[in-house]
Amino acid sequence: MVYPNGVKALDRVNINIDRGEFVFMVGESGAGKSTIIKLLCREFLPSSGSIRMFGRDIARFRRREVPMLRRSIGVVFQDFRLLTNRTVYDNVAFALQVIGASSREIRKRVPDALEMVGLTEKAHMKPLELSGGQQQRVCLARAIVNQPLLIIADEPTGNLDPKTSLGIIDTLRSINIRGTTVVMATHDKEVVDQMRQRVIALHAGQVIRDQRGGAYTYHGV
Ligand code: ADP
Repeated sequence: MVYPNGVKALDRVNINIDRGEFVFMVGESGAGKSTIIKLLCREFLPSSGSIRMFGRDIARFRRREVPMLRRSIGVVFQDFRLLTNRTVYDNVAFALQVIGASSREIRKRVPDALEMVGLTEKAHMKPLELSGGQQQRVCLARAIVNQPLLIIADEPTGNLDPKTSLGIIDTLRSINIRGTTVVMATHDKEVVDQMRQRVIALHAGQVIRDQRGGAYTYHGV
C-alpha cells in the first residue's frame, strides 16, 4: 500500500486469516496496523496486490455490495465513538436501524447483545454515566448486534486500565469462541501475553513475525 503522497505503508504483506481465528496485530506506531484495518474495511483499495474476504476479492465488489461487506464487519475503536445523548440501548439499536432492521428484530437482538457483554442492567443509562470499560462494552455490543462474521478492534483497550482491559478481551474471546473471527490491533503487552493467541508483528510496513500462541515480544526459538 502506497498512499497518494508516496508513503509506502505496507510492503509485500501476505496474511491469511481463517474463519474463527483470534489474531493480535502488534507493532510500533506507524508500523501499518491501521492501514491494514482500513484496507479490510475497504476504505481504500491497495495500490497493488489484493484482499480476499469471505472468499472474494473485495476490489471487485460492486458499489452496491460494499455496504453488505461492511455489515459483515463489526468495528471497535479506542475512542468509543458512542452517541452521548442516547441511551446504551439506543446506541446498540442504532446500528440495526441504519441497516433497516425491523423493530421486532431490534427488540430481540439488542437485549441479546447487551447480555453478551454483561450490560443488561445498564441499558437505560447514557454512555457518560458509565465507566470507560462499560463504554467499551457498549461498543462491543454495537459491533456484534449485526452478527458480523469478523470483528476488527483498533486498540480497544488503549484507554483502559489493565484489569478492565482483560475483562474486555475476555468478552471479545467469548464472542470469538462462538465463531466470530477477531482481529485486534494493540499495544497492550499484558493482554497479548495473557491470551497467547496468534500474533502478527509488523515493522515498517512488513510482517516480521506471524506466530501462533505468541507473546507481545519475541524471545527467539
Ligand atoms: P499504525 O496503525 O501501525 O500506527 P499506520 O497504518 O497508521 O500505522 O501508518 C503506516 C504508515 O503510513 C505511516 O508511515 C503513516 O505515516 C502512513 N500513513 C497512514 N495514513 C496515511 C495517509 N492517510 N496518508 C499518507 N500516509 C499515511
